[in-house]
Amino acid sequence: MTAVHDLISSLPTDLWLGGKQTPGSTGARFAVLNPATGDQLTTVADATSQDALTALDLADSVQSSWAATPARERAEILRRAFDSVNSRVEDFALLMTLEMGKSLQESRGEVAYGSEFLRWFSEEAVRIGGRFTQAPAGNGRILVTKKPVGPVLAITPWNFPLAMGTRKIGPALAAGCTVIVKPAEDTPLTMLLLGQIFADAGLPAGVLSILPTLNAAAVSGPLMADPRLRKVTFTGSTGVGKLLVRNAADRLLRTSMELGGNAPFIVFDDADVDAAVDGAMLAKMRNGGEACTAANRLYVANSVREEFTSKLTARIEALTVGAGDIGGTDIGPLINAKQRTTVTALVDDAVAKGATVRTGGGAPHGAGFFFTPTVLDDVPADANLLREEIFGPVAAIVGFDTEAEAVAAANDTQYGLVSYFYTRDLDRAMRVSAALDSGMVGVNRGAISDAAAPFGGVKESGFGREGGTEGIEEYLETKYVALQ
Ligand code: ADP
Repeated sequence: MTAVHDLISSLPTDLWLGGKQTPGSTGARFAVLNPATGDQLTTVADATSQDALTALDLADSVQSSWAATPARERAEILRRAFDSVNSRVEDFALLMTLEMGKSLQESRGEVAYGSEFLRWFSEEAVRIGGRFTQAPAGNGRILVTKKPVGPVLAITPWNFPLAMGTRKIGPALAAGCTVIVKPAEDTPLTMLLLGQIFADAGLPAGVLSILPTLNAAAVSGPLMADPRLRKVTFTGSTGVGKLLVRNAADRLLRTSMELGGNAPFIVFDDADVDAAVDGAMLAKMRNGGEACTAANRLYVANSVREEFTSKLTARIEALTVGAGDIGGTDIGPLINAKQRTTVTALVDDAVAKGATVRTGGGAPHGAGFFFTPTVLDDVPADANLLREEIFGPVAAIVGFDTEAEAVAAANDTQYGLVSYFYTRDLDRAMRVSAALDSGMVGVNRGAISDAAAPFGGVKESGFGREGGTEGIEEYLETKYVALQ
């Protein structure tokens, strides 16, 4: 308890504005809860429209000087931030566990993954290129240069409180953009601590502002209506993403949208079943299933379905559910009561329509927003959880007979973020990865995230890519200079 108390009492909990903490224009605050107990951890400042415009005034006033800062200096600030996040792995991990619920082990994994975007983009900052060619007609030269888009609004979700921020902040700062971050209201503390890290790393005041708020639209609305803002990057639900794109249309703002997923996970009859079970544990249970990349629908060849299902069920039954900061916990609580209600309703609907409960099936009694890890077999085609993101520790299994049937079922969704499949046949691996309609495909693996790879979706999972050499392009404009 004292480690928790010491950490919480040492945290920045005000807005980051102008390189320092400020209580905000009204002094209003809101509570941050521990989802494992439902108790309040602390309170944070609640940003208003006025605070948002102050952040934009600051961003606008330093945008040109930040863009003109040598790339090497921007890179070194990012690199110092990477080092200093990693010198505080345990603080960041405990903090994420406390405000989001995932186990400490998973939080440590997120520190490694999330901080990697700072290192990766510190390396990319110095490699922003362009091109120079002769016009084909021979009458001039074509010079193509890159420049930062300008001030960016980044809106992040609660499921990866660090990584969803760093994979926007990293490339934006590397490109020379100023950034205003609106973290999720459930998990603002991690981002506020990152603000401290950047201030200590020497980021000039005003380049990064962090505005927790209970009223997201009060912050995003006036910013998006202001001609000084040039870009919105969002990770969250498809519904909110569509709303933001509609609002962005009025000013033709650049947008990047990482939205919902409904990932299929296919186990073909020629798969290594044990490897597929390992992969399914990762793809399904990582982050308690609260990930847009989570395997939402497990399509398993009928010839191996019982073997796969019984092995997966044994592994899922063996998971220890509890508060994330207790040693040995595998699965923490869901983020909040609303999420637990959603997951419960999806499971109840599937069961009412005929799915078989192999383990779990509901929420345990007691404090905290827990949901018992669940396996459902024979999930019928009309079950809502085959169409909607579950965002919880629920594996929904559907049998299939032919490859064509599995691929058609996998693609039968408006989403297209990631697909996973297991096979030992190389021809099939190439054929199916081409046929799956998603921005990312995991072949014989259940985790695909990598700061060096382009993360993003197609269809209603959004557009734009984060990470890789592609990630920085989202924050750059292309300028063509015609030279005589
Ligand atoms: P989730 O369902 O995962 O909570 P949301 O899309 O509701 O996903 O939330 C993701 C982020 O979007 C959060 O930071 C949230 O505060 C923000 N958000 C929610 N509604 C709006 C809105 N109308 N305008 C701007 N941001 C919003």
